[in-house]
Amino acid sequence: MKTAIVKNHKNIIEEFEKPPLANRKGAIVQVFGCGLCGSDIVKLRTGKAKDGTVLGHEIVGKIVELNSDTDFRIGDEIVSSHHIPCFSCEYCKNEHYSMCEHFKSTNIFPGGFSEYIYLSEEHLKNVAYKVPENMSYEEISFYEPLGCIVRAVKRADLKENSTVLVIGLGSIGYLSGQAFNAIYNCKTFGCDLLEERINLANEVGIESFNSLDFEISEKYIKDKTNGMGVDAVFMTSGSDKAIDLALKTVRNGGKIVVFASTPNNMGYCNNEIYYRELTVFGSYSPAPIDLKTSYELLKSGKVKVKGISTVYDLNDIQKAFDDTISNKIFKAYIKIKE
Ligand SMILES: [Zn+2]
Ligand SMILES: [Zn+2]
Repeated sequence: MKTAIVKNHKNIIEEFEKPPLANRKGAIVQVFGCGLCGSDIVKLRTGKAKDGTVLGHEIVGKIVELNSDTDFRIGDEIVSSHHIPCFSCEYCKNEHYSMCEHFKSTNIFPGGFSEYIYLSEEHLKNVAYKVPENMSYEEISFYEPLGCIVRAVKRADLKENSTVLVIGLGSIGYLSGQAFNAIYNCKTFGCDLLEERINLANEVGIESFNSLDFEISEKYIKDKTNGMGVDAVFMTSGSDKAIDLALKTVRNGGKIVVFASTPNNMGYCNNEIYYRELTVFGSYSPAPIDLKTSYELLKSGKVKVKGISTVYDLNDIQKAFDDTISNKIFKAYIKIKE
């Protein structure tokens, strides 16, 4: 089967042995397509993805072989995420599922940028759903990334009608603003440097502006919030400077959700956190319950994803990576089967 394999920080298309189901429980899934995640790019660039790795985890496909106690049948079109918690370790008991060792060790095989994958019985039981009839494959491929966002939004634990600023309006910002609106009925603001992204966000109810000038941005937010600042800032921007903007725009006693790595791994100021009673916290990967919410938000249309993906053929996967890195496109979807 055809697969994109990491070699020397690039994706190379190569033949790979199709995974057998053999005597295992689970399913072989023919992959229709797979979304390209920001984390795939980080893994490729930093070398965290060793040579021989197959990236991709935002998969949509069809069950072609099956040995399972679930209700799934051969021919079912499904979405799935890639990690499953054990539900019994100390991390899981404290609801930090994505820190669970089992969570980290479970995965799809060999990876989503591949014609076929093996999905375990655990995947089928906990994190797989049928593709809704009203959605295209690239639309439902947002199931996993939106799951990550849902977890972060829930962890923010806001009151109804809170105010939120989303910093960075790439696909993650675009989805998270909508998720805050859907889950807490927030008044959500958004900012970015790219006009196209600002316009897109405005179309889905995220009141967005250009944040090139931090002073103007701070004034804009203060004017809109009775001089207070927002209840929560959601950081999707991978720039160290954005930390400054977060501190300028969050209200005293507010929350900052960290949802991106930054190049210089800079910190938030101790004294700001102390004197202003700020809560700064991170959120990483979703639990099955967050994925369920994500599925429902997509299926109901409460979070809109229509028309935001650019579709690439598997043969052009490296171009999809390059175009994403250079901000040429919003979100890449790698089409694997016609
Ligand atoms: Zn992802
Ligand atoms: Zn666990």
